[in-house]
Amino acid sequence: MSTADVIVIGAGVAGLAAAAALRAAGRSCMVLEAAGQVGGRARTVMVGGDAFDLGATWLHDADRNPLADLARAHGDVLADADAARGRVLLTDGRTATAEEEAGYWRAAALFDRICHDRARQEPDISVTAAIAALRDDPWMDTIETWEAAQIAAADPRRLSVRDWSANDLQGRNLWVTGGIGALVARRLAPLAGTVALDTRATRIAWDGDLMVVEASQGTLRAGSCIVTVSVGVLAAGGIVFDPPLPASHRDAIAGLPMGLLTKVALHVPGTERFGLAPGTSLRRRLVRALEPAMSFHFWPGGAAHIAGFVGGPVAWELAQGGEGATKAFARQQLADALGAEAVAAVGEITVSPWGTDPLHRGAYAYAVAGQAGARATLGTPLAGGRLVFAGEAVCTDGLAGTVGGAFLCGERATDIVK
Ligand SMILES: Cc1cc2nc3c(=O)[nH]c(=O)nc-3n(C[C@H](O)[C@H](O)[C@H](O)COP(=O)(O)OP(=O)(O)OC[C@H]3O[C@@H](n4cnc5c(N)ncnc54)[C@H](O)[C@@H]3O)c2cc1C
Repeated sequence: MSTADVIVIGAGVAGLAAAAALRAAGRSCMVLEAAGQVGGRARTVMVGGDAFDLGATWLHDADRNPLADLARAHGDVLADADAARGRVLLTDGRTATAEEEAGYWRAAALFDRICHDRARQEPDISVTAAIAALRDDPWMDTIETWEAAQIAAADPRRLSVRDWSANDLQGRNLWVTGGIGALVARRLAPLAGTVALDTRATRIAWDGDLMVVEASQGTLRAGSCIVTVSVGVLAAGGIVFDPPLPASHRDAIAGLPMGLLTKVALHVPGTERFGLAPGTSLRRRLVRALEPAMSFHFWPGGAAHIAGFVGGPVAWELAQGGEGATKAFARQQLADALGAEAVAAVGEITVSPWGTDPLHRGAYAYAVAGQAGARATLGTPLAGGRLVFAGEAVCTDGLAGTVGGAFLCGERATDIVK
């Protein structure tokens, strides 16, 4: 039976950051990762010779994002994603007029103000309930779907307005040349030391001063354990706890369902660029909230593909139909936006796996109305400080759901774990 000071479960950003901090503090640790690679939801694949991030795409809130600091320290190229991003807004099958676009931005500002105001009041309610008085605005269904179902990956009818407000991302967004997954593998993973890949933790028992972890490759023991798997994995019983988790933590997990954001890459192998500059984002006005819709991001970083995004309940529904349903949807949405000729130029389509992958079970977590405190509760140590949950869902820095938040939370877990 192997031993270490701390066992870290999961080698996504949180687990790797925790392991790196433990090593830096001179504590021995073992990192167990069920998948065959590190990075978790930060994973880069190649699409026609260009990097494509299946998960994390931008370094948000760049001025306080530890991954941006890590990249800069190594001289990696980080581009200003906001400067490179043009926008095309469609309505009724045509480009919105300047006046309509101004209406969109007015509605977006109103949504922000009402939700932030409502978040300071009792009781905590859903985003949909918070904006009920704004329903007549012709852009509000579009804004709600964009903010809550796509950016927060959530169901706005369930999403806590307080949780939305606390994690409304501010600051600059940076684009990582070569992809965030590749950055994590190249810069963060080496600091974390050896990771036991293809090693799934199945049971964690604690008894007195000892944590006993049963894993697919054998039984391990340690003084403490940091668990960074997604709340989707925890909710599905992916790890058995003995004794069972207390009601506080079980309720917190139930109050933090996984949202879904599905990304697709539509490879356009020829030279056709549809007259759209790299970085252009395209979205359209919705006639009802949660209408099935995909937004597009053209030639990100100059790549020869279009990235498509669909989030929230629609993404979950599509995921149930398998990759084929999402590909067909992406083609149809592109045809609706740019015409059938555009679709004819598309080659291979790559679909992110988060909705069906049993090692993640979604994209990132959101708190349901009334459960805005669930992230902090789940982060409360158990077993006398020997068992600590970390990861994006546990982040209380206003960066929940992001790689920056996962990093900070993983690091912090090493300060509180015994
Ligand atoms: C489509 C999409 C787009 C996103 N866009 C952005 C973005 O632009 N910017 C941003 O900052 N963030 C973005 N995110 C969010 C970001 O990717 C995550 O918040 C972050 O990567 C989560 O890291 P983590 O370490 O908490 O969890 P994970 O990355 O899920 O790490 C947990 C690890 O645990 C492993 N595991 C699971 N079960 C077990 C087990 N039983 N035993 C051992 N190991 C196990 C998993 O394989 C995984 O590697 C996006 C995510 C998605 C899915």
